[in-house]
Amino acid sequence: MEASNGNGHGDKQLSTQQGSCHCGAVRFEVELALGDGGSQCNCSVCTKVGSVGVIVKPAAFKLLSGEGTLTSYEWGPKISKRYFCKTCGVHCFGRGHFAELGGDFVSVNLNCLDDVELAGLKVTYWDGRHNNWDVGPRDKPWPILSA
Ligand SMILES: [Zn+2]
Repeated sequence: MEASNGNGHGDKQLSTQQGSCHCGAVRFEVELALGDGGSQCNCSVCTKVGSVGVIVKPAAFKLLSGEGTLTSYEWGPKISKRYFCKTCGVHCFGRGHFAELGGDFVSVNLNCLDDVELAGLKVTYWDGRHNNWDVGPRDKPWPILSA
């Protein structure tokens, strides 16, 4: 099946994408607007994991397989639980609750999508390391070592 988006037209065009961890035990499906791109955060855990996140509503995300292979990690303020595969270690998604994001959310790692050209996607950057959430995302990475 051809990806129905990723051509840069129609920012809000939704498409359904398949994703998986590296070993293939964890598989999921997500409906999202690829034209919106994804975001990276410079907080201590996001930097090490290196995921490119997209926030969707829980209803837009469906875990297809691998429930028993997933384990999770929570850190700091515990806004979200990060789920990763016990076998291959790939962080596929997180689940959490944040009023500013409209309540319950799922954060999907775009790097885990199977048929998407990541080079064509816009990436924005959050300064999570300094709790600089009010400033919002910007086009270039924030520093890690200084405020
Ligand atoms: Zn795996």
